Amino acid sequence: QLIFGQTLRIPGDNEHFLINRYGIAFDRMRASDLVRIDKSGNVQDLNFTDLAVNAAGFVIHSAVHHAREDMACVIHTHTAAGVAVSAQKEGLLPISQHALKYYNRIAYHTYEGIALSPDERERLVADLGTHRAMILRNHGLLTGGPTVKHAFHEIYMLERACQIQVQAMSGGSELNIPSEEVCLRTAAQFQRDDSEHIITIAWDAALSLIEDQASSYAS
Ligand SMILES: [Zn+2]
Repeated sequence: QLIFGQTLRIPGDNEHFLINRYGIAFDRMRASDLVRIDKSGNVQDLNFTDLAVNAAGFVIHSAVHHAREDMACVIHTHTAAGVAVSAQKEGLLPISQHALKYYNRIAYHTYEGIALSPDERERLVADLGTHRAMILRNHGLLTGGPTVKHAFHEIYMLERACQIQVQAMSGGSELNIPSEEVCLRTAAQFQRDDSEHIITIAWDAALSLIEDQASSYAS
């Protein structure tokens, strides 16, 4: 999966972040490819130069980290399905269980070009509001959470919802939309008490898949 960027506020350290090293394929990324940067995206790690990180990419992440104490981890993707749905006028449709998790619980930000100006950062953060997931129109997806596993769970569910929507629409058949009542109830069900447990076991299962492919990820 082509993921564009992931940043993590270093636990117990509000000034520094870990970001994936620029130019490393995600299926080859190892722990030692994470680069320590400050709030402005300056590299703090003696093993790397400023060229090791995508400074422009960090602008989006830093805006979210700065505005949201609860978004210690931010993931931003440019997958084909995510960008495809971001380009669709109706946005994410409530046509799957995955998508219903985001019913009335997702933000949209209008595309303004590649570089984020200071005032666009303000609009981005205002658009995000209190949500943990956002569709960047004509651009991609962004999710976050208090830990890596929470942010991963959000991007996994949102990415699947987008893949499903693209495939369902490509079938050309009229789509069935559940009633408003069912949509609201399903979204609320995703917030139930045992959801934390489900997020944890899903994360452990995902890690075991990486372990099978390349145990060197932790090196
Ligand atoms: Zn992007």
